[in-house]
Amino acid sequence: MDFGLKTFLTMFDGNVIDKKYSSLYFLQSLNKIRKLSKAVSKKKKGSDNRKQAVLNFARLHKKIFNQRQYFFFKLANELSKFDNIFIEDLNLKAIQMIWGRKITDVSFAKFIKILKTKTKVVKIDRFYPSSKTCSKCGYIYHDLSLKERYWYCPECGTFHDRDENAAKNIYKEGFRVLREGTSSLGVGRVRPAMRASAVDTRILLL
Ligand SMILES: [Zn+2]
Repeated sequence: MDFGLKTFLTMFDGNVIDKKYSSLYFLQSLNKIRKLSKAVSKKKKGSDNRKQAVLNFARLHKKIFNQRQYFFFKLANELSKFDNIFIEDLNLKAIQMIWGRKITDVSFAKFIKILKTKTKVVKIDRFYPSSKTCSKCGYIYHDLSLKERYWYCPECGTFHDRDENAAKNIYKEGFRVLREGTSSLGVGRVRPAMRASAVDTRILLL
C-alpha cells in the first residue's frame, strides 16, 4: 500500500488514538474481502457452493460493521469525559476525491454523530490553517505539504510534529470560538468549560 489513513485522532496532549484502537477494520480485512469476493465469482451461478460463498462474504461484511460500531461507541464513551470536543470540520468530499474510498472506512461523520450524543462537539472551520500555523508564534507556513509530518518554524525555530501542532492550534481556536462565538459554522455563545480536548483528524501519508 502506498498510502492510507494512519492516525484516526490526535489529541491535544499528543496522544494518538490509533495506538489503542484501530478503526480501519475494512482496510485490514481488505485482502479477506477480495478473496471472498473472488470465491463468489468463481463458483457456478445457482450452485450450493456459490450460495455458501455469498454467505461467507456477507458474514465478513457484518463482522466488520459490528467491529467498527463497537470501536466508535467505545471511543465516544472515552471522549465523553471532556466537556468540549473541538474538531475540524474537514471537507470529506474533497478528501474523498484525493484519497479514494479509504476515507469512507473511517466513517468520520458517523462517529461525530455518536460523539454528539455524549458531549458537546465544537466544529472548527475547515479553512482555519491548523497544520500550517506555528502553535508557538503564529507564523503561517504556507508551503507545508501533506507529506511533511514534521517541520521547523522558520520564524521561532520550534520543531513541530504536524498532528500535535495542529491539535494545539485547534485547542486554541476551539476556546476562541467558545469565547467569542464567531465560528462561521454558527456555534453560539457558550460559557467555556473547565475541561476540553482538541481532537484533530489529520490524514497522513504512510
Ligand atoms: Zn514559530
